[in-house]
Amino acid sequence: MKQIYRACKKCHLITTEKSCPIHGEEKTTTEWFGFVIVSEPKLSVIANRAGITDTGAYAIKVRS
Ligand SMILES: [Zn+2]
Repeated sequence: MKQIYRACKKCHLITTEKSCPIHGEEKTTTEWFGFVIVSEPKLSVIANRAGITDTGAYAIKVRS
């Protein structure tokens, strides 16, 4: 089965689930563009700017 990657509208976390593993009820969407892999949030300028505090893959732009 083909996996479709989705992004949380709130935290931009990329997941294959239809709801965010962090926010639960927040819906995820397939309407997202680009992504960053954050391995060290405290050292990443991008993570800092986006308010990312956990490691993972995050969408750069999410259409809401
Ligand atoms: Zn989320």
